[in-house]
Amino acid sequence: MEHINNARGGLDRRSLLAGIGAAGLIGATGLPGGALAKAPQLGGTIPGWYRFRIGEIEATIISDGLLNLGSATAQFPDAPADDVTAIMRAEFLPVEPMMLEQNCMILNINERVVLLDSGMGADPMFGDGAGRLLANIAAAGITPDQVDDIVLTHAHPDHCWGLVDANDGLVFGNAQIHMSQGDFDFWTDEGKLSAEGFIPAFVAGARRNLLPYRDRIHFVEDGKEVLTGITAIATPGHSVGHTSYVINSGDHSFLNVGDVCHHYALLFQNPEWEFAFDSDPAQAAQTRLKLFDMAATDGLPMIGYHFPFPALGNIRRAGSAYEYIPIPITHG
Ligand SMILES: [Zn+2]
Repeated sequence: MEHINNARGGLDRRSLLAGIGAAGLIGATGLPGGALAKAPQLGGTIPGWYRFRIGEIEATIISDGLLNLGSATAQFPDAPADDVTAIMRAEFLPVEPMMLEQNCMILNINERVVLLDSGMGADPMFGDGAGRLLANIAAAGITPDQVDDIVLTHAHPDHCWGLVDANDGLVFGNAQIHMSQGDFDFWTDEGKLSAEGFIPAFVAGARRNLLPYRDRIHFVEDGKEVLTGITAIATPGHSVGHTSYVINSGDHSFLNVGDVCHHYALLFQNPEWEFAFDSDPAQAAQTRLKLFDMAATDGLPMIGYHFPFPALGNIRRAGSAYEYIPIPITHG
């Protein structure tokens, strides 16, 4: 380790890098004691759930894992590729693959267990890193049959394809579903099975997951309470009936933005950018600007479905755009 200390007794970057180069970063056999790697590497990753409170509500973020969305420049097609690349580099992220996390949320509220969005299920459309919801619900000490209500932001694969299992059985056998009629009608429309692009696959999956629950689907309305403490806000654009939700308990409020914003860096700095999977990209950008303005003005903390786990943060104005400030986790 002597190469790490320079003549002034502190760390010197050049000698540190030279030392790494000489010893090799992995399996640095020159390190004293040779104590590294005596145990086998374990694999696996984070436990995948995080519990916190919103007033009297017990909230648990449940990770459904990661989506591989390919190239960031391809996903923001109207954005200058150099700008996308610069931001990703500044955040120490690769431009490709752009990995988006999926953060479902369970609320224990007023003696009901409410799940917001159901994850991707087992479908490998966006890689093999998704579909972790059920394992992480179990790890969090909750069972699917305890879920009384499922509140959906919209009917895209990563938000509603976890509703049925491989045999088309109901994963959440006791749950009522709450979602917008706009998204239900659009994404279960048989006529779109012959449309262009990604639409037919999305429609087929939505039909497979939503139609078995049809007799227990309830439509939410803009500005109306869906369940005690959960109010719908129509935030169209990413999908026709995309809905965000404000969660209230006493003096505490939290905004579940859903997919109004997919990326914590790219879209806070450039909220007007269009996203490849938006149904109406221009409307999605206007909705994003409105919701960001509301959250910043009201000091409303938020959960973003695709933000880094546990995906809880605040929003701050930065010039004509915004910044995302993660909320530190608590232990309790
Ligand atoms: Zn999504």
